[in-house]
Amino acid sequence: MSDQCLFCGIVAGEVPSAKVAEDDTTYAFMDINPASDGHLLVVPKRHSKDLLDIGAADLADVTVAAQRIAKAVSKELGADGVNLLNCCGADAWQTVFHFHLHVIPRYVDKTKDRLVLPWRPGVPGDPAAIAALGARLSAAVD
Ligand code: 5GP
Ligand code: ZN
Repeated sequence: MSDQCLFCGIVAGEVPSAKVAEDDTTYAFMDINPASDGHLLVVPKRHSKDLLDIGAADLADVTVAAQRIAKAVSKELGADGVNLLNCCGADAWQTVFHFHLHVIPRYVDKTKDRLVLPWRPGVPGDPAAIAALGARLSAAVD
């Protein structure tokens, strides 16, 4: 538990939330500003700040929980698809600094779905620049 952390407060039951599921290490609850009908968040019960901070076991548990919930979303809400989203860092749109995966149901019916792609798909990059960055990253991965 981290003092002043909103999602630690939700996990502890000190801040109200619409709980969807819970197990030993994860907690899932509805997002109060949903990008689509059924948008929810899955968090580790143990505080970690973001994707770079979270331990491998908690990351695995949250991801598996998100998959289980995505299956329920598809079946129960009739979603046509699902996006999993993580924002790591303020410049990547993170606003709550307790790791979370967004589970965002997607619908053909746009009255239920307000999510739009944040980049222009199908715009090719420079192949040499892509290859050079790939080579740098390949050498940098532990
Ligand atoms: P981020 O921008 O960090 O990826 O996502 C944070 C999410 O937390 C946002 O989608 C926001 O709507 C949600 N959120 C912020 N405050 C609360 C709250 O008090 N309760 C719930 N259930 N969700 C919240
Ligand atoms: Zn926290």
